Parts: sequence; structure tokens; C-alpha cells
Amino acid sequence: MTEQDSSAGGPSIDELRRRYQEERQKRLRPDGMAQYRDLSDEFEDLDRDPFVEPGFTRDPVVEEVTVVIVGGGFAGMLTAVHLAKHGITDVRIVEKAGDFGGTWYWNRYPGCMCDVESYVYLPLLEETGFMPTERYASATEIFGYSKLLARTFDLYPRALFQTDVTGAEWDPESRRWQVTTSRDDRLSARFFVLAGGILHKAKLPGIPGIERYEGKAFHTSRWDYTTTGGSPSEPMDKLADKRVGVIGTGATAVQVVPQLARAVKELYVFQRTPGAVGVRNQRPTDVEWFRSLRPGWQHERIVNFTQAVTGAQPEEDMVADGWTEMMWVDTQKAPGSEEEAEALERADFEAMETIRRRIDEIVEDPGTAEKLKPYWGKHCKRVCFHDEYLPAFNRPNVHLVDTDGRGVDEMSARGPVVDGVEYPVDLIVYASGFEVTTDLHHRLGFDPKGRDGVALSERWAKGAHTLHGVLASGFPNLLLISLVQGGFGTNFSHLLSESAKHVAHIVEACVEQEIVEIEPEESAEDEWLSVLLGVGMGGARYFMSCTPSFYNSEQQAIDQRAARNLTYTGSLLEYVGYLERWRQPLEFAGVKVRREAPVEPGSVATAKGMAPENVVAPRRPGHARRWSP
Ligand code: NDP
Repeated sequence: MTEQDSSAGGPSIDELRRRYQEERQKRLRPDGMAQYRDLSDEFEDLDRDPFVEPGFTRDPVVEEVTVVIVGGGFAGMLTAVHLAKHGITDVRIVEKAGDFGGTWYWNRYPGCMCDVESYVYLPLLEETGFMPTERYASATEIFGYSKLLARTFDLYPRALFQTDVTGAEWDPESRRWQVTTSRDDRLSARFFVLAGGILHKAKLPGIPGIERYEGKAFHTSRWDYTTTGGSPSEPMDKLADKRVGVIGTGATAVQVVPQLARAVKELYVFQRTPGAVGVRNQRPTDVEWFRSLRPGWQHERIVNFTQAVTGAQPEEDMVADGWTEMMWVDTQKAPGSEEEAEALERADFEAMETIRRRIDEIVEDPGTAEKLKPYWGKHCKRVCFHDEYLPAFNRPNVHLVDTDGRGVDEMSARGPVVDGVEYPVDLIVYASGFEVTTDLHHRLGFDPKGRDGVALSERWAKGAHTLHGVLASGFPNLLLISLVQGGFGTNFSHLLSESAKHVAHIVEACVEQEIVEIEPEESAEDEWLSVLLGVGMGGARYFMSCTPSFYNSEQQAIDQRAARNLTYTGSLLEYVGYLERWRQPLEFAGVKVRREAPVEPGSVATAKGMAPENVVAPRRPGHARRWSP
């Protein structure tokens, strides 16, 4: 893309650079992450689980198990599945929701589906024998699949649903985690796995006067079908005479807007930053093709997809969809030269120009089309793929209310106000997303206390300390699956599968080798941090120029804490490589382990069967890990 683009009718690189900066500038705000409101803390009514019958009770559970897992989404379920494969089945899964599924339990809004191909997204397809009905599975199908996974791997008897963990403390005497819950359970666990979700804590926009609104309102992850009628698979039938406002134009809104457009009298879509929406091309699964797949196909396809969306450019693009086409060139990587920097910038502009041109081709009103155009780099936010979102704006009952980057100015008792115009609505749907980069203990809803009673919030007050985002010093036998110092990827279930496998391996090795305490050396954590920072530096240049989003903590100034709380920003496969090399062979490099004391014949073991001298450093002292990928 050069000056010729202007002559061909497209903008020049300079024009685009200027436009991107202007648009970014409009969205920068001094309050950064603090602009949002916390659904569970501040709007309890809106946080209620609409999918369970009220009044559930059960007797408290008091028990000792090998593992307590917090979270019954894919991360928690897959951890339990991999543990079971290693023969460890005395596991408790504590889950706030009324069933398994995590994201797919909560997100039942109409039109909800996974934008990653089902054949690479749904884990363990070869083991369950399940064939997704469509290339991109609906949320209903994925929720159903979660339940199938739970049945297949016998997870239901191990679950405590509708239960929040309220506290967890490491007990040095018993060398166990003592876990308490909102239903008075007392669980004692040798290992404590935090798989509490990545996109589970809903946030509301910080619109001044948001409490003033007197109509119906809910967040997309708490869809109220009693208000809208219908169900995830049936059209909404109570909105035909209603005016509805949707706040947000991210990945969720892109899926929900077309459904609402069909069902309501008037739909107002309040936009702060336009989303990028590429071609979806949904289609039913080709049954013959699916049946022809040979053993091992799924892992191969998953890896191939991740290669294709991280710029590794595999020989064959197996999935060959909007994702792989859009992300084929990794334009956020550190360029080796000025020429490469320019080539990457050009490739990014070109990819986004395709998105912008598509809007002109579909949206009939040129003014609306212009306002729907995203001017940000393709790695700055999650790109979406949908074939009905843009056409929805051609309907006479759908109105785009563009806020020119500011967001809704205020809320009145009757509805949102933008530029002095009040939009009275009967219902507001907040498609305003989730907390992703806030403190982990805040998102978990409890603050684990580790060695010497030190809470995670204290230990991480100036940022996280972990090895691979999985083990944390000061917190023996605690295993984390989160984005904090962990991996990241387009296909979240790939990340969660690999993390779960890793966690299960560690637990299994500890059980087999009679290790009673495992905890990383601080020096190993520091080494991991330098890896994260080294990789992060590459993308920093790109991300600093991005429009604000949860990807970059709303462009909040990066302090020491934020710098430590980063994710591994390189390829997911590189991150997985670190995990695999660390555990194959499993030598516990950079980790302190304490083994069960051998009981000498005729001798009396200590109260807990342990001897302090049994503390061992890495099994091969001085064994230094090389951190390069
Ligand atoms: P997002 O955080 O992506 O979007 C929130 C939206 O709310 C943005 O458009 C944001 O604007 C807007 N907003 C926030 N504050 C205001 C305000 N004051 N006034 C007006 N608008 C406001 O949340 P989503 O739920 O859409 O998506 C979150 C993530 O969930 C995705 O990135 C993806 O990872 C996952 N997801 C995945 C799907 C899949 O198919 N796999 C489907 C749906 C979600 P702005 O952009 O300016 O911040």
C-alpha cells in the first residue's frame, strides 16, 4: 500500500497513520481501567444467576481430597480430566454456576457462538466421538458439549455447584490447603488449582448516572429471557413493541445485534469504538469429511490453526478461514529493520482495509458505513467474523448512535444520552465485556493466603511472581491457570488444554514421587519475568500505538505492577514449548520440593510423617534452565 492507493481511491499510509492516531487520541481517558463498574460488587441484582431456580440448598461438605479445583469451565474440567488420566480422581471442583461450562454456561445471549472453528475449539473431540453440527458451534451446542465432557469423564459426582470459594489458606502443619465456601464446606486439599476463568467477571460501562436508569437492563452474560421471550435457540417474542439499546460493539455485540434487530421495534446501537467484522462463512459440518479424519487429527489441526494465526505460516492452512487469513502475517512482532517495520505496518493496514471495504460493500447508508469503520491495528482488539452484523444496519429499525470515541455521555431515567440527545428505551443490554487484567484475587472473589498467612494480594502488591504463570513462590502446592504471566492465544481452549495438561502433570509427579510441597524459587520466577519482558518488548511498540482496550488495560500507564502482570505475548506455541521443555523430563528445575520423610523401621515418624531436612532444592542442584524458546 503506497501513494498509489490514493489514486486507486484508497487512503495513503500517511493518511491512515494520522487517522489511527486521531481515533486513538479520542479514546484515551485518564481513568483507564477505573472507568468500569463492577457487576458483582456494585450491582448484585444484575449479577444474579438467571439460569438456576432460587432456593437451592445442600448440606455442607467436609472432606480431604488430593485436589480442589476452583472453576468448572474448560480449564477446570480439563484439569480434572487429565488428572483422571493419571489416576487421580479424588478431586473436588467448586463452581459458582449451576453446571459445568464456564463461559458457555453464562453466555446464553441470542446468537452466541464461538468464532473459532469448532473442530479446533471443542477439546477432546476424538475421545468423546462428538461431531459438531456446524463449523462454528453455537453456545448452546458448546454448553451441551461441556455437559457431555462432564458425563464422559465422570465429573458430576465431584462438582459442588452454586458454590463460591470464600477463603483458602495454606496450613503448614498438615501441608494442605484449607478451603472454605459460601455453603459452609470445609475442604482440605493437598493441591489447590485456580482455574477460575479468564472472561468471567462482567463489567459495566462507567456511564455517569448509570443507576438512574429505570427501565429493564442486564449484561449479556446474564441474559434474561423472561424479559425478551424466546431462548438461545428460539426467537425472542416479547420485544416486538419495545425500544432496546445495546451498549458496546465488541465481539459479543456483533453476535447479539442481528438477533435483536429481528426481534425489536427499534434498536439503538451505542458505539464507542467500531468493531472489525470479517467474513464468517458458517456451514454445516461435512459428515463424510469428519468421518474420514484419522486418529491424531485434532491435535494436528489445533497446532496448525495456532501456527496460522500467530504468523508461523505452516505449509498447509488446514482451517483456512477469516482468522487464519487475517492473522497470517504477525504484524505486531518486533521488526528487524526499518524496511521490515514498514512492510509489517503496510500488511496491517491492508488487512484492516479489507475490513473497511467490506463495510462499504454491505452498509447502504454511506454515513453509517463511515462511522462503522474501525481505524485500529488488527492486533489491538479481537477481530470478529460475522455475516449478519453489518447487514443489520440496513434495517429501518436499527440505528447506530456513534459517540465519536467518548462513549455514552450519561444515563437518564429513560435511557442513554449522547450529544445532548436522550434515547428513551425499554431495555438496555450491556455488551460491555469482562474484567481481564484486574488483580487476580479480585477476579477470583477471594484472596488465597499462602506461607506465613501472606495473602496473594499482599505478595503480588507490586505485581505477580510466578514460574510460567502456574507456580507461585510463597504459595506451596498452588497451581494457577490464568492469563497472569501465562500464555495467550486466539484459540483459548488450546491454551486451557495445554495449561490443564501441565498442571495435571505436576500434580501427578508430586503424588508419584511423594512430594508434599512444591514451590518455585524466586530466582526462577525472575528468569521467567525476564522472558516475559523480553518477548513483551517486541510487541510493546505496536501495543503502545493501539486504541485502548482490555488487551492493553485501556492504555493505562504501565507501572511496575502492570509490567509484572503481563501475559506471554509471543506465540502460544512458544509458551507451550516452555511448559513442555520444563516437564520433559520433569526435573523440577527452579523449583523447591519437599518429600515425604522415609519412615525408618523401628523409628517414629514426625507427627505429619515429614522431616524438615527433607527439604530439597532442585533435584539436580545448580541445574540452570535455559529460558530461550
Ligand atoms: P469487549 O470488552 O470486547 O467490548 C465491550 C464494548 O463495550 C466495547 O465496544 C466498548 O467500547 C463498549 N463500551 C465500554 N464502555 C462504554 C461506554 N461508556 N459507552 C459506550 N460503549 C462502551 O467485550 P465483549 O463481551 O464484546 O468481548 C469480550 C471478549 O469475550 C472478546 O474479546 C473475546 O475474547 C470474548 N468473546 C469471544 C467470542 C467468541 O466467539 N469466541 C464471542 C464474544 C466474546 P470500546 O471498544 O471503545 O472499549
